[in-house]
Amino acid sequence: MSQASRIERSSMSVEVRNHCDVLVIGAGPAGFGAAVTAARRGRKVTLVEYGCKLGGMWTLGLLSPFFDNRHHDGLNAELRNHLQASGHWGGLWDMSFDPTEMTLLLDEMALDAGVDILLHTLFTEPIVEDGRVKGCFVENKSGCQAILADMVIDCTGDGDVAARAGARYEIGRPGDGAFQPMTMMFKIGGVKEEYPRDDIVGWFRELTKVLGEEQVLSEIPFDHPAIIKLPRPGEALIQWTHAKRRLGCDGDDLSKGILEGRRQVRKAMEFFGSIKSVLGDVYLLELPAVIGVRETRRILGKYYITDEDVRNGRRFDDGICLVRFGVDIHEPEESKQTCFGHAGFEIPMRSLIPEDLTGLLVAGRCISGSYIAHAAYRVTGNCLKMGEAAGNYV
Ligand SMILES: Cc1cc2nc3c(=O)[nH]c(=O)nc-3n(C[C@H](O)[C@H](O)[C@H](O)COP(=O)(O)OP(=O)(O)OC[C@H]3O[C@@H](n4cnc5c(N)ncnc54)[C@H](O)[C@@H]3O)c2cc1C
Repeated sequence: MSQASRIERSSMSVEVRNHCDVLVIGAGPAGFGAAVTAARRGRKVTLVEYGCKLGGMWTLGLLSPFFDNRHHDGLNAELRNHLQASGHWGGLWDMSFDPTEMTLLLDEMALDAGVDILLHTLFTEPIVEDGRVKGCFVENKSGCQAILADMVIDCTGDGDVAARAGARYEIGRPGDGAFQPMTMMFKIGGVKEEYPRDDIVGWFRELTKVLGEEQVLSEIPFDHPAIIKLPRPGEALIQWTHAKRRLGCDGDDLSKGILEGRRQVRKAMEFFGSIKSVLGDVYLLELPAVIGVRETRRILGKYYITDEDVRNGRRFDDGICLVRFGVDIHEPEESKQTCFGHAGFEIPMRSLIPEDLTGLLVAGRCISGSYIAHAAYRVTGNCLKMGEAAGNYV
């Protein structure tokens, strides 16, 4: 019996949940920054998030350190000051934080600003008329609803709204389109106090001495993993697993990447049993709610940040964020990481404005730039700053 490969979906009438000034889709660093900034400026803001927490990779993904935070003012400084004052800042390079405290803090700041927050809500389709984005359809426990807005800000990381509205985009490196692997972070407890706070790879060298590099890499294909000590004694995050050739904006790939990431976490915990004298008798404390996706779509905007802009430390009249973090590429095919520095370059506001659509901005890792530029601006301090710039623009 032959099976149809496509089926028509009937059109239906949908409840309009609300009409706001600014609709922000995705509540990671960029979305949080955009929503809080616009709301503090008196805009009526609705923030839609697919997960159960604000913060994206900070909270759902179990990430630290907070890179490119220290040189930015505004919300970067505010978050750092709050976390420092409450004793939840420190750890690796004195720029790591407790993800649970971050979750509570982001709720408080967004609610204080008056943001209307919809959790466990998935953006499904943009509402577009004559090239203008006028709102979005979302789906949650209430069913399908429409939210209308004067301006939509796509902070999904993947550029879901822009792509579905017809924006052009790139994925991966020039030539073969290969992209960086995903990583399932995880939190461990029981780490020895004597293990040096800022020694991210020493334990790995000891492990490969015991088990041999070939065996270790055959199970977990990345040779520059990191232990990220957190402010609370004994707790650390591990950034090691690599799910390669899985694209975060493809539903099947994402599921396969998550399952592969968790298989590697199990293996990592087994491996830690061989180096108890180095790390301590560590145990698995927490798995993240999402796998970490390094790169998917880069939405083409009114300006495209080039490799030369990175190398030349270019500044712009409409610069909104200074990127200091170096280019950091987890290689798509090999087990290694390629890193190099630069003099610092700016992101212009035009990189947040899609080329041919109105009523829409993008902020966060999906803005308009090259494979190389993205590998530097993607860290969270910059995504937060981009969100603030978008929130100030509307
Ligand atoms: C493994 C890993 C380690 C990293 N390590 C560091 C680090 O140590 N320090 C650092 O500063 N940066 C680090 N980065 C980079 C950084 O985490 C990301 O680039 C950054 O979080 C991107 O911010 P964002 O707001 O664009 O996206 P995200 O943080 O990915 O947030 C996007 C949000 O949108 C939501 N969303 C997505 N699609 C939809 C939809 N359709 N409907 C509703 N909601 C949706 C998601 O649930 C999520 O909450 C790391 C990245 C990875 C993957």
